[in-house]
Amino acid sequence: MKELIRNEALRIGFSHCGFAVNDSLEELRVFYSDFIRRKGHAGLKYLETYFEKRLHPELVLENTKSVIAVLMNYYPPQIIPEKDNFIISKYAYGADYHHVMRVRLNELVNFMKFSFGDLQAKAFVDSGAVLEKAWAQKCGVGWQGKNTLIINKSTGSFVFIGIILTDLEIEPDVPETSRCGTCNICVTACPAGALDTPYQLNIRRCIAYLNIESREEPPAELKGKLADRIYGCDICQDVCPYNRFALPHLVSEFLPSESLMQMRKTDWLVLTEADFNRIFAGSAIKRAGYHRLKRSIARFYEEDPHEYESN
Ligand code: SF4
Ligand code: SF4
Repeated sequence: MKELIRNEALRIGFSHCGFAVNDSLEELRVFYSDFIRRKGHAGLKYLETYFEKRLHPELVLENTKSVIAVLMNYYPPQIIPEKDNFIISKYAYGADYHHVMRVRLNELVNFMKFSFGDLQAKAFVDSGAVLEKAWAQKCGVGWQGKNTLIINKSTGSFVFIGIILTDLEIEPDVPETSRCGTCNICVTACPAGALDTPYQLNIRRCIAYLNIESREEPPAELKGKLADRIYGCDICQDVCPYNRFALPHLVSEFLPSESLMQMRKTDWLVLTEADFNRIFAGSAIKRAGYHRLKRSIARFYEEDPHEYESN
């Protein structure tokens, strides 16, 4: 059963697939409750909710016996030129991964139902009360590195995670353990000091949080350290040795449009809302919205970011 599911996951386009018994994530209770208590989640209010569900998948899908974790490689075949340009995260080059992953996860769930009969299964991608990274590690498809991202030893960290909860009993894989060892490259490379406590992200200092999620201005001391990044930040991934041999993905939906490939700083500065809607139709960047993106760009020119707030 396990190998049939894994083979189908690989056929669908996932790079890895692993399995764990649902024996809860009770071991994270103290860490997670402390994280919430000291407001480590900053403005990500949704992390405060469904605390018990996050530790106990059977409260999300009744009678969950197994957890399946899949990874999808998104390392691009071609990097958008960074010279004389603003930089966006590689995961946002093409179509919104939520949609791309969900279609394929549903295909895998349908395969399981067709192959194994009447079963319950529910798929998640960055949605619902599921601690995806913790389950990915338990399922053996990667470990949470000092940069706090899931790293697969052969594919690296440019991967999306999908989770399926099911009432099927499936033989588990061996959980992965950290292979970071004495490496500290991401910690020292982070320009914002957001990884000063390895394996823990200081969200308030993370550029990716500041230019996507946060409604507040970056801390004054980070001025000049945002490294031309206007949507996300890949620095702690770009430097990771496990990404040195990352292979390009084969997912056509993740390819950037020709318009995006050709954009340079001057094009970003004069970007109109109509062009934004055209270039980023169906992209993850669309979720942030035109005005937030323009506000990020404005920061680099020390214009008044509040000019964009009222729009
Ligand atoms: S994404 Fe950027 S700012 Fe955030 S931890 Fe990584 S290197 Fe630091
Ligand atoms: S750069 Fe080094 S310490 Fe950081 S995640 Fe990669 S292997 Fe781990």
